[in-house]
Amino acid sequence: MNLDLKLQELAESHPENPAIGWDSGELTYRQLNEQVQKLANRFTERGIRSGDKIAIILENSPELVISYFASMRAGAINVTVNPALTSREFGIILNDCRPEIIITESKITERVKNSGLDWPVELIVTGPDFDSYIDQGAAEADGDSRYQEACTILYTSGTTGVPKGAVLTHDNLYVNAEVFGRNLGLTARDRSLIVAPLTHIAAQTNQLNSTLISGGFCYLLKRWKSTAETLGKMEEQRITYFFGPPTMITYILNEPNLTDYNLQLRLTYTGAAPLPEEIFHRWAKLFGFEIIEGYGLTETSPVVCMNPAEGEKKLRSVGLPIEDVEVKIMSDAFEEVPPGTPGELVVKGPNVMKGYYEREEENRKAFRDGWFKTGDIAMKDDQGYIYIVDRKKDMIIRSGFNVYPREVEEVLYMHPAILEAAVIGSPHPEKGEMVVAMLTLRDGHDESVIEELEPFCKERLATYKVPSEFRVIEEFPKTNSGKIMKTKLKEGTVRQ
Ligand code: ATP
Repeated sequence: MNLDLKLQELAESHPENPAIGWDSGELTYRQLNEQVQKLANRFTERGIRSGDKIAIILENSPELVISYFASMRAGAINVTVNPALTSREFGIILNDCRPEIIITESKITERVKNSGLDWPVELIVTGPDFDSYIDQGAAEADGDSRYQEACTILYTSGTTGVPKGAVLTHDNLYVNAEVFGRNLGLTARDRSLIVAPLTHIAAQTNQLNSTLISGGFCYLLKRWKSTAETLGKMEEQRITYFFGPPTMITYILNEPNLTDYNLQLRLTYTGAAPLPEEIFHRWAKLFGFEIIEGYGLTETSPVVCMNPAEGEKKLRSVGLPIEDVEVKIMSDAFEEVPPGTPGELVVKGPNVMKGYYEREEENRKAFRDGWFKTGDIAMKDDQGYIYIVDRKKDMIIRSGFNVYPREVEEVLYMHPAILEAAVIGSPHPEKGEMVVAMLTLRDGHDESVIEELEPFCKERLATYKVPSEFRVIEEFPKTNSGKIMKTKLKEGTVRQ
């Protein structure tokens, strides 16, 4: 089975069920499948062969979903790219995979054209012309299966350096979305709101693919514009399932009129970054059900582990490895460490990518004895629940002591004036690194709150972990998957 075959199966078994909706339309499974077939035929007519690449640079839209499945059906490898990137950033990704076709939208076209496309590439711009482009495709399948092993190349978000293309197979993506949806308990009655960018693996697997595999409905919001718009759509579309990174969850909880919305939400999943404990409690209190937190990476399709939908969710834990996925915590000498000891989290399983696209050197570093090394520091408890301590690269060494930014951030989130917090290391001639806290404040608070923060942290943290500096900034630089870009904070390129 693969995602596209499943779509065809559902178009047969549930033809009239709604599959996707957006601000001006809706497609049933039958209609979605027809559009996919026509576009796939069009790609084939245009000379797309198995293994060719089709880049999709779009905001959340029906065109993105149709192109995603059509590229699979034509045997191509799709490369979904964050539309918010600059020309230079597009250039890095597009030059790395050199697609035969790029599908984009008018407001992005200039940036794409200026990214240094120096190979023969067809640029398709969505809009009425794209609709007729699809319509010209034959409606029938010719019966040939064009699938090959690789399905997608997804570039890592680049929070830690130059993006690398993770090659994910049909099997990686299907198995991960299927197990995830089953664990969460998604059904054909579920209605999912997709506002997280579909160019990132999390929205693809944790929402689009898992919801469609379950026969449910996905409402596509182009992008996150405001909390009010998101909540309004949740109400209007009778949304039952929401996925968002912790930043979106935090925005929703801080919406002053939250309780005015009549919501039918029954499931919420989060991942991609740590969920502050404070936020977990506030959500449970307000909505009457607990957020399910999981952990994953682009390279692992992404879900590695998750808390159970039913059963014990452990606070601050990202849960248990999902079916058929093995997780070990390793010392620097690559030996498994006992429960309660931090070490690098390594993964083996059907969700692990084939490797980085054309990166021999990186692949040698990323895999050891068949295990994929995530670069995250984690711990297991006696029952096998996993706790992400921090990213290896984010760990701060202050006077020889290890400080995990996440632990300090958790404490800062307990302070009522703080909206978001990120703790980074800043070079220091004697101490090696200093602990610096960057903050945004909730409405009604100003910088005078800084005075309270040192004593607040001292009460809750060992002295060496207490930030030596607190800086209030206007807004955090974020990736389109909603993560704070700590590299930018460290470069000091942020407006204060
Ligand atoms: P790059 O690899 O380019 O630096 P990235 O690491 O942000 O980008 P992603 O694949 O989007 O790329 O993110 C995976 C990372 O997100 C994990 O390695 C981990 O550090 C972090 N992460 C994911 N889920 C969680 C979670 N629940 N808690 C803490 N961290 C998480």
